[in-house]
Amino acid sequence: MLIARRAKLERFFTSHNLDAILFSSLSTIRYLSGFTGSEGSLLMTRDLRCWFLCDSRYTDQATLEVVDAEVRQFSEKLATVKELINDFRMLRVGFEETYMTVAAFNALSATLDRCELISLNENLDQIRSTKDQDEIDRLSLVARLASGALLETIGKLKPGISEATFACELEFEMRRRGADGRAFDFIVASGERGAMPHGRASNREIRSGELVTIDFGALMNGYHSDETVTVAIGRPDPRAIEMHSVVREAHDRAIAAVRPGMACKDLDAVARDYIRECGYGEFFGHGLGHGVGLEIHEKPTISPRGDTLIEEGMVFTIEPGIYIPGFGGVRIEDTVVVQADGCRVLTQVPKELMYL
Ligand code: ZN
Ligand code: ZN
Repeated sequence: MLIARRAKLERFFTSHNLDAILFSSLSTIRYLSGFTGSEGSLLMTRDLRCWFLCDSRYTDQATLEVVDAEVRQFSEKLATVKELINDFRMLRVGFEETYMTVAAFNALSATLDRCELISLNENLDQIRSTKDQDEIDRLSLVARLASGALLETIGKLKPGISEATFACELEFEMRRRGADGRAFDFIVASGERGAMPHGRASNREIRSGELVTIDFGALMNGYHSDETVTVAIGRPDPRAIEMHSVVREAHDRAIAAVRPGMACKDLDAVARDYIRECGYGEFFGHGLGHGVGLEIHEKPTISPRGDTLIEEGMVFTIEPGIYIPGFGGVRIEDTVVVQADGCRVLTQVPKELMYL
C-alpha cells in the first residue's frame, strides 16, 4: 500500500531531476510512512529509500508505526539531514514550500555546500487527492459514525438550547461512538447567524421559526468526515424554505453530475449556475467543495478556478449555500467518493428539510 503511495512521487522526481525529497507536512508523512505523531521529517530518495527523522520523544512510536523506512533519532535535526545528504551525495533535494518554514529553509541552506534545495511549486499534497481502498474504508466509517451521532442528538435541538450546548451534545455522542474527536469546531449557526458561512457555535439560544445550519464532522483513525444540514425549528419564513429548496436542488444536481474526467470548475458551475438562475447568485460566495482525508480541507478544490480533472477515488464535499446578511443562511453538504460512473455519498443524514 505504501509502495503504491510512494510511487505517486515519481513524476516529481523526474520533472525536477531530484535526488531526494524532504517532507515536512505531517499529513503527507503519515500518508507515506504510517507515522501518526506530531513531529518528524521524512527524507525519501528517488529509488524510494526512506529515512524517518525524529527526536527521542518519538523513537519508540516511530519504530512501531513507520513502515519501510529507517528510523533515525537525532539530537540536532539539521545536522542529521546534512549528514544523509552528504553521505548519499544528493545534489538536488526537493522540499514542500507550503510547509517548510523560512527559518528552517534558511538554516538548512546555510549548512549545505554542494546540494541545491528545490522548491516544489506544484503542491505535493495532490498525491493524497485520490484515495486507496484503505482510506475509503476509513472515510466511510467515520462519515457513518458522525451521521449517526447527528441523527441521535438532533432531537435535542429545541427552542432555548444554545448553539454551543448542542455542539457539545453532538461531540459527546461522537466520542461515545468511538470517534477520536471532532474533525473541526462545529458550526451551529441559527437565525441571522446562518448568514455567516463559518459561524462557530455561540451562546445564542435557538428560537422557534429559525433555520439552523449545523456543519459537523468526526475524526477517527486519522481521517475526517464533513457534512452539513440546515434544519427548521417550528415554521420558518417561506423565503427561508425557498432558499433551502434551491440549495438542495443545486446540491442534488451537482452530486448527479460527478464524473471522472470532468474539470472541478465545471462541477462547481452545475450548482452555481442553478443558484444564479434562481436569483441567489450573489449570495453564494465560496467554492462548491474540497477534498477530505487526513486533513479536513485538502485537494482537490471544487471552485470556479479549479482546473484539476476529477479522478476515480477522489473524496470531496459538495456544499452549496445561500447566505443573506441580516436574514440567515442555508448550506447542505455531503462527502462523496468518485467512482467510474459517478459517485457514492459517504455521509448519511437525509437532506430534505427537517422540521423539529
Ligand atoms: Zn463542512
Ligand atoms: Zn466542507
